[in-house]
Amino acid sequence: MKVMVVDDDPGSLMVAKAVVEQAGYECLSATNGDAAWDLFQRHQPQVVVTDWMMPGLNGLELCRAIRSGEEDTYTYLVLLTSFGSKDDVLAGMDAGADDYVTKPLDPFTLRTRLLVARRVTALHAQLGRYRQELAKQARTDPLTNLDNRLKLAEDLELLHNRSLRHGTRYSLALCDVDYFKSFNDVQGHPAGDQALKAVADTLTLLSRDTDGIYRYGGEEFLLILPDQGEGDARAIVERIRAGIKALAIGHAGNPEHVLTISAGISTFAPDHAVGSGQLLKEADDALYSAKAAGRNRITSFVRVG
Ligand code: GH3
Ligand code: MG
Ligand code: MG
Repeated sequence: MKVMVVDDDPGSLMVAKAVVEQAGYECLSATNGDAAWDLFQRHQPQVVVTDWMMPGLNGLELCRAIRSGEEDTYTYLVLLTSFGSKDDVLAGMDAGADDYVTKPLDPFTLRTRLLVARRVTALHAQLGRYRQELAKQARTDPLTNLDNRLKLAEDLELLHNRSLRHGTRYSLALCDVDYFKSFNDVQGHPAGDQALKAVADTLTLLSRDTDGIYRYGGEEFLLILPDQGEGDARAIVERIRAGIKALAIGHAGNPEHVLTISAGISTFAPDHAVGSGQLLKEADDALYSAKAAGRNRITSFVRVG
């Protein structure tokens, strides 16, 4: 645990520092509020023990600054104060402090407060890990382990705005397994699930690290190909189409006798700066054309007029 102590009184600072170090924690120290805020931002200590009255930011302002910058973290804040009045204590807790210790500083009292700080800090760290894990789960498709539609919406918005700003291109490829209903009917749903996993693994294997791969729906997958125009996107998706066919997963209901996919490509470009929703629709239209033209093929969206 990293603890920052802040006090403009050298004696008080020395006592606080000694308590922290004797308790076995790493100790950072500052002698005014501005230096403390700077140190805090650079080192992100889990615990801050701060004086109230000091040059630069005072203790209350430091507490407020730390609290307002927190998103997924929590800092345990202890105010050191020689103000004994209840109103001062209330103002301190209201500014975000978790606890207060009155001056002159008693080492034993601070030592006990650090024990509580460690417990609360550990709980918050655990909460942070759960939150991260939940956020990841909420964005992951459990069958294929690919990112899901929620993550797609977030990633697409980011890329779309970036491409608008920089005048760069990107492509979408909507891939759909051919005759998959009949695959399930003949081979059973569990075999269908295995086939979807194999398709997902092949998409991952044959795309680039910078591409996004998402389970879009049941047997539909979406690729986001940053910085790729129509021609490059087509080459990548063609490699994937061939790769999936080469898995040679037997499929009696497919005229190719193996599992295949069809794909529709749409491309965002400065001279075709449509919204991301429209671009998805264009990929879907192109996919429909690929299906209508016989499946196991890739079609790019063609603008009319
Ligand atoms: P097309 O070539 O036109 O795409 O025909 P299709 O049969 O693939 O398309 P359709 O939309 O009629 O059927 C999709 C099938 O995908 C139906 C559904 O049961 C199956 N499916 C969707 N999600 C899953 C899944 O998670 N596991 C399995 N095993 N099957 C799924
Ligand atoms: Mg299908
Ligand atoms: Mg479908």
